[in-house]
Amino acid sequence: MKQKLNAIFPITRQKLVLLLALLLWTKSLFAYLVDFRIGYDWFFQYAILLVNPLASILLVLGLTLLIKRKGLFIATNLILYFSLSLLIIANVLYFREYTDFITINTVFGFGKVASGLGATVFKLLKPYDVFYLLDLIVLGYIAYKKQFTLEYVPKERKNARKLLAAAFTMFVLNLGVSELFRPGLLTRTFSREYIVKYLGLNTYAVLDGIETYQTNQVRAEASPTDLSEVTNYVADNYTAPNPELFGIAKGKNVIVIHLESFQQFLIDFELTDENGQQHEVTPFLNQLYHSDETYGFENFFHQVNAGRTSDAETLMENSLFGLKEGALFTKLGSENTFQAAPNILGQTQGYTSAVFHGNAGSFWNRNETYKRFGYDYFFDASSYEITEENSFQYGLMDKPFFEQSVNYLEHLQQPFYAKFLSVSNHHPYDNLKGEDLGFPLANASDQTINSYFATANYLDSAIAEFFDYLKATGLYENSLIVLYGDHYGISNSRNDVLAELLGAEAGTWDDFDNMQMQRVPFMLHLPGNHQGGISQTYAGEVDALPTILHLLGVDTSQYFQLGQDLFSANRQEVVAFRNGNFVTPNYSVMTEAIYDNATGELISEPSEELMQEIENYRKLAEEQLSISDAINNGDLLRFYNDSGLLPINPNNYNYLDQLTRLTDMEKQLGTDSTSLYSQNNDSSSSNQFVTSGYLK
Ligand code: MN
Repeated sequence: MKQKLNAIFPITRQKLVLLLALLLWTKSLFAYLVDFRIGYDWFFQYAILLVNPLASILLVLGLTLLIKRKGLFIATNLILYFSLSLLIIANVLYFREYTDFITINTVFGFGKVASGLGATVFKLLKPYDVFYLLDLIVLGYIAYKKQFTLEYVPKERKNARKLLAAAFTMFVLNLGVSELFRPGLLTRTFSREYIVKYLGLNTYAVLDGIETYQTNQVRAEASPTDLSEVTNYVADNYTAPNPELFGIAKGKNVIVIHLESFQQFLIDFELTDENGQQHEVTPFLNQLYHSDETYGFENFFHQVNAGRTSDAETLMENSLFGLKEGALFTKLGSENTFQAAPNILGQTQGYTSAVFHGNAGSFWNRNETYKRFGYDYFFDASSYEITEENSFQYGLMDKPFFEQSVNYLEHLQQPFYAKFLSVSNHHPYDNLKGEDLGFPLANASDQTINSYFATANYLDSAIAEFFDYLKATGLYENSLIVLYGDHYGISNSRNDVLAELLGAEAGTWDDFDNMQMQRVPFMLHLPGNHQGGISQTYAGEVDALPTILHLLGVDTSQYFQLGQDLFSANRQEVVAFRNGNFVTPNYSVMTEAIYDNATGELISEPSEELMQEIENYRKLAEEQLSISDAINNGDLLRFYNDSGLLPINPNNYNYLDQLTRLTDMEKQLGTDSTSLYSQNNDSSSSNQFVTSGYLK
């Protein structure tokens, strides 16, 4: 042992750099596996795990070999070494409390987070944390031996370059392989966990820094004078509510059910199996859609972009679009001011708000964004009992999800605004297998399409179970239930295969058809109100919020909402997609191509008059998008004081110990408590939830 140790002495510059890199590498791997417990499923992921900390560490430390002055070389190495160590340890402690990684914004907006952490930081320590300090013994021993030759040797410059080149190659390979397995990892930045998993903690910190700088630049340049354009647009665009419907759901609970990857074509669709037998895919949702207690919409389009699910949430709850690039939740969710549904209902109508989601709270940066949306509670994966059996890669399956959610739902003070984010019907739709399938596979040449119907059917029956619970507990009669599909489930590239199942021809399937497939369900179910029906109005997700608020009797004229109430007279009916394409009741327009909705044919020689009409529509679509970008990128809502809403202080929100807080509130309110649990004389309603099992 002693001989081996002696072999590394005297310490040269290169040896020092390699040793420090080795120590950091070991600590990183320990943190990844023991503390972050990031899921690694297969060989390649382990390979990436091994490489990603080393590549960035060598790249950073290796650069110090180019420094000539000895003192500067040592100082730089020590500073870098302890900074990188601190990055690991700080993230480990933060992760133990928040199951998330530190962002620049959490560091600078430290206030509450730090003081909250400061008090509990000792509680967060674990015995094995000594491992993170073992390197001090190694470094102390070297300092004690005092055998260095850390002088600059010009000859070694070549070796330094080789090392840097190797580190750089490793880094690029790491990036390439990651992009291959998780396309859009960098551009969409959907999950901090994925970035750390694939690129490592150091690269994550740098990426977070770049992104924070960029968005701060745009924000810094924005000023209150930018408001006037927006104010004018909103005033011109606002449509007054339909007086017959305004306030018909006033004071009711709002239950929002997010139908993951659910397209309108599934409604009423019957899948023909190999024996020629027909199977209704979503019998419950079909019945709901046709109920006279439901306002249904057959021309409602999703408008999401790279932010996918989170873009749908942005649109539905803010009546603003997602961003041109990347996801608003991850890019701006930690800093912007919003006037979202939970905030408006909380401040103006006294609603309690909560989100239920069986996946990690850090996904799409939800845990930060929701605070700024004004969500009082966020029950994420940490609030659920999740096992290998009842979950898959996107979290808890929908049936156990709804079943377990009611343990929290029953403690919410009424009226509440509660959103349920389902996950089971998620691409690649392969989470149900064998006996659990419960529905025939389609028989097309594409496995993704074949299994889509089974997961949609599973979602349908999960919702049916949840409705049964709502009826059994009486919540049903006192609620407005909103259901929407967030975005397509089958991408355009697969639609020619889907075409045959839909009775269309693959050969003639074109862009027009793809565009029509972007319809998603939007249903407003109001028990006891038999005035419902199916509307043909052309609309998109941006139009949902003013519609819902008007039913609840909330005046929206003072809010920056870019959509129009679906029940208003004189709606514009120009549905903009994020890329500038748009649909109207008569035309579908893709860049220059104009399709006639009635025939589905391309209008190859449009008249002057039609061209003019289309250009007018295009202007409307583009203006709506650019106003949305101005509001979001400039964070203009922070300047806007005429909404009547008080600014949100995100530090007043945290999503820990929520059940304790809810039950404490029930005790405090006593007989004034309006939660279902209190109304039931402090007994749980969870036995009213009848499920056919976790999977089937
Ligand atoms: Mn989604």
